[in-house]
Amino acid sequence: MEILDILIIGAGPIGLNCAIEAEKNNLNYLIIEKGTIVNSLYNYPLYMRFFSTAEKLEIDGIPFISTAPKPGRQEALEYYQGIARQKEMNIHLYEKVMNVSKNNTFFEIETTKAKYTAKNVVIATGFYDIPNQMNIPGENLPKVKHYYTEPYPYTRQKVVVVGSSNSAVDAALETYRKGAEVTMIIRHSEISKNVKYWVKPDIENRITEGSIKAHFNAEIIEIKENSVVFKDENKHIHEIENDFVLAMTGYLPDFDFLKNSGIELNGNCLNPSYNMETMETNVPNLYLAGVVCGGKDTHLWFIENSRTHAHMIIHNILSHNKHLKTR
Ligand code: FAD
Repeated sequence: MEILDILIIGAGPIGLNCAIEAEKNNLNYLIIEKGTIVNSLYNYPLYMRFFSTAEKLEIDGIPFISTAPKPGRQEALEYYQGIARQKEMNIHLYEKVMNVSKNNTFFEIETTKAKYTAKNVVIATGFYDIPNQMNIPGENLPKVKHYYTEPYPYTRQKVVVVGSSNSAVDAALETYRKGAEVTMIIRHSEISKNVKYWVKPDIENRITEGSIKAHFNAEIIEIKENSVVFKDENKHIHEIENDFVLAMTGYLPDFDFLKNSGIELNGNCLNPSYNMETMETNVPNLYLAGVVCGGKDTHLWFIENSRTHAHMIIHNILSHNKHLKTR
């Protein structure tokens, strides 16, 4: 039976970075990924632009060349998948990790295809797989989308966009520009301060001129086959005609998976327990890397500021596992 030094769960940018760092230190690693390489990025809106400049998305100092000031989804796919290809990374794709448990010494990792044994496990599973549900009647209708890909299906349709973050604003502007009749329903009193600085004036001006309708301090309360019911800031109930709902209400890490792996979750944001200097969780030799670390606060971590996790983790593994097998 092969015993891995490190099993990394998730081939997102940060999982890949952990693998590069492991390889550089001659540690025997395997990445298990439930989709394709950088699966979250693959599922992003087709024409999205990162808010980061290309060099801030680089891993291991490998140049990320982009023709635009901020790269788009396809360039990022080329960059990260290109690195995995060029480095011949050890990755199993379309295999999902179902359970991580620890016996006295090693971890047993059970996936949809096999079982593995490892001395250390890094959870780098991100937050893009579980949409934040609105928990309202009609949310499961096929016209309700938690993932937005492109504007063309929505031309000449009555579209409600829920939310006011980057994803909501991009979806509202793109669909409006392809001929959709867009209404935004926003819980807060204004467009989110986190919206990309070059996009914010665009959405605010479209709202002010009335090209995109927006209801602030409002709440969607029911979705029906041909309409949407919402409460406005004066608690008045409105029912408007509707063809599609783009529920851009954010995403959440897989808290059940973290909990079942033995990781303690704390406070309202369900912040996972980990040492901020080593990224080791309350379970010895079980590490967290990347945006999964933020719990419900998914704006805390991004590629830019979590690239350092890989070095911290591998350094810690090396320092307290001096007996590790090297290739
Ligand atoms: P992810 O990229 O989400 O990778 C996690 C991987 O784990 C996925 O491939 C997933 O399929 C896999 N996985 C999950 N569960 C399992 C399992 N049980 N078994 C096996 N595999 C599993 N950050 C920036 O720095 N700059 C930006 O401009 C920026 N723009 C963003 C735009 C959008 C629309 C979004 C949603 C996020 C953006 N972010 C940005 C935030 C951040 O970059 C991303 O969330 C990034 O993908 C995080 O990298 P990660 O490796 O931590 O997680």
